[in-house]
Amino acid sequence: MAFPITTLRNFQTPCYIYDTALLARTLDAIHAETAEHDNYHVHYAIKANAHPAILHQIAAAGFGADCVSGGEIQAALDAGFPAASIAFAGVGKADWEIQLALKAGIGMFNVESVEELEVLNELATSSNTRARISFRINPDIDAHTHDHITTGRAEDKFGIAMEQTVSVIRKAQAMTGIDFQGLHFHIGSQLLVMDDFETLCQRINELQDMLEAEGIHLANINVGGGLGINYGDPDGHAIPDFHAYFTTFTNNLQLRQGQQLHFELGRAVVAQMGTLLTRVLYIKHGTEKQFVIVDAGMTELIRPALYGAFHKIDNLTAADRTDSVVYDVVGPICESSDTFIKDYTLPETRRGDLLAIRSAGAYGEAMASNYNCRHLPPSHLI
Ligand SMILES: *Cc1c(COP(=O)(O)O)cnc(C)c1O
Repeated sequence: MAFPITTLRNFQTPCYIYDTALLARTLDAIHAETAEHDNYHVHYAIKANAHPAILHQIAAAGFGADCVSGGEIQAALDAGFPAASIAFAGVGKADWEIQLALKAGIGMFNVESVEELEVLNELATSSNTRARISFRINPDIDAHTHDHITTGRAEDKFGIAMEQTVSVIRKAQAMTGIDFQGLHFHIGSQLLVMDDFETLCQRINELQDMLEAEGIHLANINVGGGLGINYGDPDGHAIPDFHAYFTTFTNNLQLRQGQQLHFELGRAVVAQMGTLLTRVLYIKHGTEKQFVIVDAGMTELIRPALYGAFHKIDNLTAADRTDSVVYDVVGPICESSDTFIKDYTLPETRRGDLLAIRSAGAYGEAMASNYNCRHLPPSHLI
């Protein structure tokens, strides 16, 4: 954490702290890896963190947006993302969301079913426009990540089965309201094994060969997002390994002449720049355990409760205490799953200490809730 405790001490807790300088360096690192490729386009996945100032900074740096709801499309437009740079995915797009996207003239609908294609064609035709679409194909890859965030297996609800690719494309090409552009994929989140992306490239290469034999050309390929971050060592790995990520695609994907390649990174862009700041309310001495009870809970960061996710926790107040103790760090919410971490060693911790729950910039504030009638906490950009 780059911020002096004297600044942080004044904040009411819980709150989110966003390091905009780290965000700027992260965006620069992405630019550096993609600058040589005019045909690479990176869309920030807004669902990871939709704070208006964060969106504004990412839009101003020249990135596109990946949206999964009408609300996100509106947030992207408000933040200054050009409509043409907006991609819209999601298995269940409501009519009003489609109409909003058509009216704005977004760059791409990532269509996830034939049923959606038919509704989109109807709505586009009746408003005298054509929707640019890609089909989200389910490549049947079991990515090495948590069950709840793997999305590209045949049994997952996302996308269209590979075997149906030709028939859905033919259908789309015959529709007056549809402008078929290409294919979209997204195999999961928090992926750290580049082999998963390599497998994706191989699937796409096979699909392209097969489609070409059918006389079908793709103008666009979108490989989704999913690049993971290092939750264990946020200071040692403040910026994800974008080099390994982009070169995996450069080396493995057989792009055709003029083909555009799109990426949709969420977590990797914003996770490390965010911290959930919380105060210790009590040290509770249980019969077998010592609990650090803090004023933040699953309402501010649900990832540990939802996915059993690990977030590093630093006691910012206890820097010069020498004793360490094994604690469970828990929130105040009336759910047993409201536990940030179990059996975790911290310096001896006291009421009033400030704790930093690290790597909370992605899927933290964006998933916050009012459960237990709690107020949504403020966020501070530093
Ligand atoms: C969530 C999502 C992303 C971003 O995923 P990250 O793991 O945060 O990079 C990209 N594309 C789609 C379609 C998504 O649903």
